[in-house]
Amino acid sequence: MSSLPLRVLIVEDHSLLIDGVRSLLADRPRYEVVGAVSDGLAAYEACQQLNPDLVLLDLGLPGMDGIDVIHQLRRRWPALRVVVFTASNEEHRGRAALTAGALAYVLKQSPQQVLLAALQHAALDKTYIDPALKLETLDTTERTLGETPLTLRERQVLKLVAEGRRNRDIAELLSISLKTVETHRLNLMRKLDAHNAAELSNWARRLGVLEF
Ligand code: CA
Repeated sequence: MSSLPLRVLIVEDHSLLIDGVRSLLADRPRYEVVGAVSDGLAAYEACQQLNPDLVLLDLGLPGMDGIDVIHQLRRRWPALRVVVFTASNEEHRGRAALTAGALAYVLKQSPQQVLLAALQHAALDKTYIDPALKLETLDTTERTLGETPLTLRERQVLKLVAEGRRNRDIAELLSISLKTVETHRLNLMRKLDAHNAAELSNWARRLGVLEF
């Protein structure tokens, strides 16, 4: 990574919070706040204009829900790092945000250090979950991210899916039958609670499978 500052876009509908984040990052040369907007549509436009490296995203936004914003941004800019900054400590929100492609999840009520830790992790393309998030969330996330209950073959298939390969190509590349590929794929979707190839790709990235 170069020594250029990480370009940060803030998406938040409370101006006091925007000011707080701005002042938190003001004397940290690693980060440059390139803009702040207050809803999902404006976030999309700002990404087009400002080309940020990282989006600090509130989930409770006017208009489009934050989870949908994550989907949209990551579909258009797959390398964009999304750090969720929210008051919501509900398990299903955390899971939905991570599945949609967020790299980190931070609660607004947590100390500043947590936000800074999340930004540092995200800058390195690493996942970070607020330790104050409900235990169930940590269990779920750690089980999937940490122990990674995937077989080597499943990880190979996941990588190829994330690369956009079709089942037929995967079968050929791994010298296994099409039927076996389909079975691996179904098992992956079940284990990761993913519903389509895009969600599997997000998991591949998060699990580091793409670096194989
Ligand atoms: Ca809000």
